Amino acid sequence: MNDAIQGPNSSYSNPFAVLLAGGVGGARAARALSTAFHDDEMLVIGNVGDDDRIYGVHVSADLDTIMYTLAGIEGPHGWGIAGDSFTVMDHLAGLGVPTTFRLGDRDLATCLVRTREIDSGGTLSGATETIRSALHVPTRILPASDDEVRTRIKTRRGEWLAFQEYFVERGHADDVSEIVYAGADRAEPAPGVAEAIEAAGIVVIAPSNPPLSIHPILAVPGIRRALETKDRVVAISPLFGGKALKGPADRVMASMGLPPGNAGVLAAYDGLITDLVVDVTDASDVDTLSGPVRIHATGTLLRSPEQARLFGRWFRETFR
Ligand code: GDP
Ligand code: CA
Repeated sequence: MNDAIQGPNSSYSNPFAVLLAGGVGGARAARALSTAFHDDEMLVIGNVGDDDRIYGVHVSADLDTIMYTLAGIEGPHGWGIAGDSFTVMDHLAGLGVPTTFRLGDRDLATCLVRTREIDSGGTLSGATETIRSALHVPTRILPASDDEVRTRIKTRRGEWLAFQEYFVERGHADDVSEIVYAGADRAEPAPGVAEAIEAAGIVVIAPSNPPLSIHPILAVPGIRRALETKDRVVAISPLFGGKALKGPADRVMASMGLPPGNAGVLAAYDGLITDLVVDVTDASDVDTLSGPVRIHATGTLLRSPEQARLFGRWFRETFR
């Protein structure tokens, strides 16, 4: 195996499966794979393109969604913390601060821990480790980069929006004409990320929004390079009958000029993946999508722990 993994930069030894993950789709895939692989056999690499300073704190929406889900405390819509209170938001609103971006009190505490660590000279990956360990999450998680990578959206009307402005404040209603991952070209993979990809037996791309959650990870040159050496990269489709479960994935993919349905997912990962897993409802894609990528069909709805476990077992039997 790869010696670099034992280098001073990394405490990660020979991870078997590396998962590239956004928020809700990423977190659900992480939970499913964690039923199939031991904790020391997998590593999750989370998108940081959605990160921003909001209310003065460093929000890492995708990393927190992954950690809350793996800790079993995720909110009813997949993000935030179940049963969280909103006292701070209510008081901020009373003080005249716009609070469209609703951060629960406990969620805010997570962000405060992260912000304090980063502002006192720490890194995002260090802060992620602090939070992961406090939440007793056994699965290893790294941000794609400790450097700033920020997804910016250009609307059809020609305005540039910060990611959370587009997604949360405007409820992803705008038509998108362009997406950039600002800073990605200069960003280094977080310590251990490239080494883990190089050492992995399999790389999995979660059923996350391809242009908004996965492309910002792939836009980091050191990550893209490491992936290009892999023999097996398996993507799980976020689409069901051509539509996202929720969120704008299908619309954004269409506005990026990608074909509809799973052909669009194939095109989004062109030249990178060897296998695509589609839902049983799209099983006809196994025969109709031709080309070098192997198409597999199984139940990919990973909402419940039972669905996650069944998928995990199928995954292990199919790819091990
Ligand atoms: P976000 O960062 O929270 O917006 O989430 P992601 O980018 O990780 O994922 C959004 C995508 O996840 C949507 O396109 C959904 O269709 C997809 N998704 C959510 N839950 C599931 C699931 O259980 N199975 C599959 N296959 N896709 C899912
Ligand atoms: Ca996200």
